[in-house]
Amino acid sequence: MRYGIVSDIHSNLEALEVALDSLRDVDTLYCLGDIVGYGPNPNECCELMRDRQAITIIGNHDSASAGLISLDWFNPAAKTAAEWTRNQLSTSNLFYLRSLHQTHYTGWAVMVHGSLNNPENFEYIIDRRGAKNTFDVMLPDNLCLIGHTHISEFYSKRIGENRIDQLPMTSGGFIYLNQDFLSIVNCGSVGQPRDGNRAASFGIYDTDERTIEIRRREYSVDVTQQKMREAGLPERLWTRLEYGM
Ligand code: ZN
Repeated sequence: MRYGIVSDIHSNLEALEVALDSLRDVDTLYCLGDIVGYGPNPNECCELMRDRQAITIIGNHDSASAGLISLDWFNPAAKTAAEWTRNQLSTSNLFYLRSLHQTHYTGWAVMVHGSLNNPENFEYIIDRRGAKNTFDVMLPDNLCLIGHTHISEFYSKRIGENRIDQLPMTSGGFIYLNQDFLSIVNCGSVGQPRDGNRAASFGIYDTDERTIEIRRREYSVDVTQQKMREAGLPERLWTRLEYGM
């Protein structure tokens, strides 16, 4: 089986269409949260994920835009975008976002937006220390898929040992999974990458090969930026798309 993995779409329809086109042959599509927030097409992105019957968990921006958590945790630009998104969302998409769970167990992996040790607070895994807290609560699953940081990377730890390796996947490529190791994989962000590469980032898990391929695909950043300008979304949010930061 081949499973598509997307995350942090952030209402970026141009990036999502490119990613879904690249993932058109997968058996099932999974989404690790943040379908909305920041970008100009929240309803279209929700509808595409619903049409594709993606198995989706909730991200902090979905949660805030659907009125489930306070906007006080957000910086001013993110807060403005979340309020804008809340006003745009159709009732049906609002209820769709509210229906999403914080974790999902597939039998071959556990999925969470931020960290497995503290799913409700959307903690960021940005280093080995953060990864350790999730490794400590992962078993019996030995693969954890995360999003949230918008940085494509891979952490691994041999079961029973303490050393944790951290590998950036900024240019894409293959991760080979080993049953003797615990792995945390972040396939990056479709709609707002922050690892210095502006191309949409997403993954494919191949169960036969035991690999996760991280793919990067260019999309029309200028089209998304123009829509964000016209919607009056904060300038900082559309300029950053160009640099992948
Ligand atoms: Zn996000």
